[in-house]
Amino acid sequence: MSFDNPMEIIDLRSDTVTQPTPEMREAMASAVVGDDVYGEDPTINELEALACRMTGMEASVFVASGTMGNACAIMAHTQRGDEVICGQRSHVFLNEQGGAAVHSAVQLNGLRENAAGELPLDDIAANIRTEDEHHPISSLICIENTHNVCGGLLLSVEYMQGVGELAKRHDLRFHVDGARIFNAAVALNVSAEALVAAADSLTFCLSKGLSAPVGSVLCGDVEFIRRARRARKLLGGGMRQAGVLAAAGIVALNGMVERLSDDHANARQLVEGLVAIDGIQLNPPGGATNMVYFDLDASIQRNAASLYDALALQDVLLDPVGPRRFRAVTHHGIDAAMVDRVIGAVRETMSSG
Ligand SMILES: *Cc1c(COP(=O)(O)O)cnc(C)c1O
Repeated sequence: MSFDNPMEIIDLRSDTVTQPTPEMREAMASAVVGDDVYGEDPTINELEALACRMTGMEASVFVASGTMGNACAIMAHTQRGDEVICGQRSHVFLNEQGGAAVHSAVQLNGLRENAAGELPLDDIAANIRTEDEHHPISSLICIENTHNVCGGLLLSVEYMQGVGELAKRHDLRFHVDGARIFNAAVALNVSAEALVAAADSLTFCLSKGLSAPVGSVLCGDVEFIRRARRARKLLGGGMRQAGVLAAAGIVALNGMVERLSDDHANARQLVEGLVAIDGIQLNPPGGATNMVYFDLDASIQRNAASLYDALALQDVLLDPVGPRRFRAVTHHGIDAAMVDRVIGAVRETMSSG
């Protein structure tokens, strides 16, 4: 058994299954720590400074999860009763238990993403409320990049700039749920800083493709982060000697960003293999970053549950995200040979009915 792949299983369910690297474990063991609620954990302070340098943001705060990062951002940007514009298939809208309503007492206006995973700028503009006593006050736009449920799609620098300009024109704030912002940056061959230059705030995850065990970072200007720190404390997220976690995050930011291109190459290899299998439709057709989504044709007998079970018996795990739909995510624990094994297993299983 190795730490890297404890079960020798090819697990493509998510990039959250990544294990901390040996270098992370060493950094964690030797991390100098202090009480972070007092601002006295040098390792957390170092991680937050590094996050600022890599995103071009003025200040940042280490949080327990991406969900907590988004919750703190929404709380710090809004007032009770405000309206937040986001995507119908975004994490904020679908996968946070309505946290924006629970914690911040705001209403989400979920707009439909186009095939590129974007909220068209005219749609955003048309949904910004006018000054009318009946209406909520639009105060925030949340954009996800890369966009997970839309297929791991990446949103371009130009689009992000466009949202920023629109937000400014209407005096709204602009938050980026960049759980996988470094996947987008690496795939576009631009800096994360360039991607979020027009945004007021950004959350990114250390615990996904970057392979750290725990944590996300929320970034923004000094005054915003002061409010976000209060929100984090309210949510019970004021951690103490959490530098043991931040230490892994520092290794992640310094050493695990560039290699995301390997995950993207492996995802492309998976797309090429799956495309050739009868009964499988890649949707979206690309394989933009580290995510591959596919549907089983209505004409074939297998559904997602039966294919999942058959593959699991062969130690291959995919994420069934619908009755006939799968997600497969490449990450640090997956190499090209494993991708070949997955393609072979899917091909054989599909052809055996
Ligand atoms: C995973 C994810 C989050 C939340 O991160 P957790 O650490 O799992 O809470 C937020 N947004 C997106 C787009 C994600 O993929």
